Amino acid sequence: MPVYEFYCKECKKEFEIQMRLAEYEQGKDQQKCLHCDSSNVERRISLFEAKTSRKS
Ligand SMILES: [Zn+2]
Repeated sequence: MPVYEFYCKECKKEFEIQMRLAEYEQGKDQQKCLHCDSSNVERRISLFEAKTSRKS
């Protein structure tokens, strides 16, 4: 299961969430920070995805 990395612009912390691709596709625009519950978060591209996304 892939791990998605996020960066919170509010509290300036990084966090990781492990979830299925389908779950990520559904919730990627509503992802909230684990630390402060802000939705002002930015996606960090992981090495895992950088490899797999070349196929498409
Ligand atoms: Zn935060």
